[in-house]
Amino acid sequence: MKFALAGNPNCGKTTLFNSLTGATAHVGNWPGVTVDKKEGTYKKLEEPIHIIDLPGINWLSPYTPEEVVSRNFIVDEKPDCVINIVDATNLERNLYLTTQLLEIDVPIVIALNMMDSVKKSGDIIDTTKLSVTLGVPVCEISALKNEGIKELMEISYKAAQTKREAKTVLSQSNLKALIEVATDKLKAKNVESPLFHAIKLIEEDSLETSMHQDVLTEIDPIRQNYVKNEFDGDFEGMVADARYKYITLHFSKIIKKAAKNTNETTSDKIDKVLTHKFFSIPIFIVLMFIVFHLVFSEDLFFLNAIFGLEIKNSGWINFFTGMGYDSMLLEGTNSLEGIPSLGVFLQSWMGWLTGSIIDLVSGWFEAGGVLDTWYAGLICDGLLTGIDAIFSFLPQILLLFLFISILEDSGYMARVAFIMDRAFRKFGLSGKAFIPLLMGFGCSVPAMMATKTFEDEKERDMTIRLAPFFSCGAKAPIWAMLATVVVGSFLGDIFVFSIYILGIVVAILSALIIKAFSKQKEVPPFIMELPAYHMPQFKNLLAHLWEKLKHFLYKASTIITAAIIVIWFLSNFKWAFWQGMVDDISESILADLGRVLQYVFYPLGWSWGVDGWKYTVASITGLIAKEDVVATMGQLGLENGTINLSNAQIYAFAAYNLFTLPCFAAVATARSESTKKGFWVTLLWWLLASYVVSMVIFWIGYSFELFWWLGLIIVLAIIGLIVGLGLTIIHKRKMNKEKRVA
Ligand code: GDP
Ligand code: MG
Repeated sequence: MKFALAGNPNCGKTTLFNSLTGATAHVGNWPGVTVDKKEGTYKKLEEPIHIIDLPGINWLSPYTPEEVVSRNFIVDEKPDCVINIVDATNLERNLYLTTQLLEIDVPIVIALNMMDSVKKSGDIIDTTKLSVTLGVPVCEISALKNEGIKELMEISYKAAQTKREAKTVLSQSNLKALIEVATDKLKAKNVESPLFHAIKLIEEDSLETSMHQDVLTEIDPIRQNYVKNEFDGDFEGMVADARYKYITLHFSKIIKKAAKNTNETTSDKIDKVLTHKFFSIPIFIVLMFIVFHLVFSEDLFFLNAIFGLEIKNSGWINFFTGMGYDSMLLEGTNSLEGIPSLGVFLQSWMGWLTGSIIDLVSGWFEAGGVLDTWYAGLICDGLLTGIDAIFSFLPQILLLFLFISILEDSGYMARVAFIMDRAFRKFGLSGKAFIPLLMGFGCSVPAMMATKTFEDEKERDMTIRLAPFFSCGAKAPIWAMLATVVVGSFLGDIFVFSIYILGIVVAILSALIIKAFSKQKEVPPFIMELPAYHMPQFKNLLAHLWEKLKHFLYKASTIITAAIIVIWFLSNFKWAFWQGMVDDISESILADLGRVLQYVFYPLGWSWGVDGWKYTVASITGLIAKEDVVATMGQLGLENGTINLSNAQIYAFAAYNLFTLPCFAAVATARSESTKKGFWVTLLWWLLASYVVSMVIFWIGYSFELFWWLGLIIVLAIIGLIVGLGLTIIHKRKMNKEKRVA
């Protein structure tokens, strides 16, 4: 037998699924879309029950892949029973989906979840009445506390034995006649679940109208009778309204709320502070800062900055702080800047581990007298070094994820998304996108992974596209190095700061431009209920992390390794590769490629001159890991003193590396988390943005460097252009609005 779990996002589906299926669970993908498909087996009944955890949805519309997946599964694959999980603390909102599920010819059992919270709050739900009203069994459970699960499965098993005929709450509305006619017509066409399809057809649901165009034409005369009401022919609105009316009418009798003031829940009390009008954002910033501090700081709690608490590089301190690996020591000093944060601590141990492995392996080769062979080079300089660069960030990525998961699981992130929603809407994003973008400052890979929970594919693609513009930790060394080279009135720290700001500005501009060109009118409604706060579950957190780790390891072992091998080959061989390896990278294939590609970047200024190919090559090796930009420049003899770029060229070079393709790990993650089409647009956007922004910056800077007044004129012209464009758009929008109103 096959049971499906259906319900709103955050109703506790996954929690129930986990407790039903335990170790039998596995995650796959629904064909064609990037939506997780979770399956498992429940074994405590007479026969094993195959359980499918459908994605969380608010309704059965055709707008998001999650909705389409859930709906097609229930309608077409006909599970023996659908367990509709309803968050009892949000009964009225959750029942909206229920009213739609009831219209499908399939046995349904309602699992009234979170009953523990309901009981705690003092509310009383009349389960019997609810069951009678809806005509399906209702079972009280608490997925979290593992209560009522066995009963739920027994009831569902029984319900699955008999057929259930669909019914609709709309039969009590004025749409009744229309629905009956449409249902009969579909029945005559031998359509299964005719009632469901009839109502969807009336709503002019895009999935239905294409399938049953004939019926739609037939019922059109009757539909005309309905167009002259307050909905102005908006049948989707009419149907939705009828559902809500039904729910409000009946369910006020089913739930008896506890007297309000005696029962302000702890959650409400916490919310008073955390979602406070003025304090919410400062609190959020502080919390995020703490998270980033714990993951990335090399001076925990600023102990060194405040108290001058330097850590001397002695043996036991090394051991205790994980600083055994000397890359963590500041150049030329013998002490650390304070106590490392947990993230830096783990990172340095990881560095020590991978460093030791490299030493060990090259030791073997040396002992065998084969250190100069190509395979020793491939393994040591290519694979191990590349993997080292990527793995050294793994602990921080995971730790960042752990903290974010804790905030998410506790229910706090839902509030943040809510707070940020309004501002983000202007850029065609919803508040949800905020967290991933913020994580982009740490590393784009977890940032992109964090978009997995978005219901809207477009928003997911867009967020992934913008994430690398938030300058990640691996890009920081590039800025730090370039900061030592900028000359004149440009101060190093202002330079670095301005790069970060530039990233944010270009991200915002990108969002606006993409929004202007996309056909989608509005961001889909961002409806969410704020779940009550609760302690995160340790088991959940670990499962989360393990998923991420698996994902990452898989990528690292496939696409990234392949890329590393290719670049290693190109930088170690000349065209006549059979003649052996080159001693100097400037004789390599990569150098020659750089000398050709250099011309591609000529309009960007920084690839001018005899050293131009070196910057080009550095940008290419940056694809392995962004730290490699600095490493390669060093290898090619470019450092403070030998770099003779003007400020305009330096700035353009920085901008290019900020916006171009991120490292392979991030590209691979973007590929697996985006839609196929979205991914190609993303690649194109990265290439385009890097080229255009870098070019604009160079030419503005260059004209300033030639004649200050020329630069000024160009800047003013550009500002004028932008303001003009903005005004035109605003004007156009106003006109459109007026047209719609009129
Ligand atoms: P899904 O989005 O439907 O898969 O929901 P999850 O299973 O991820 O649960 C959402 C949140 O609700 C999690 O933080 C759970 O710990 C919490 N939760 C799930 N079931 C219950 C329950 O019965 N009682 C309470 N108090 N919380 C629950
Ligand atoms: Mg879930």
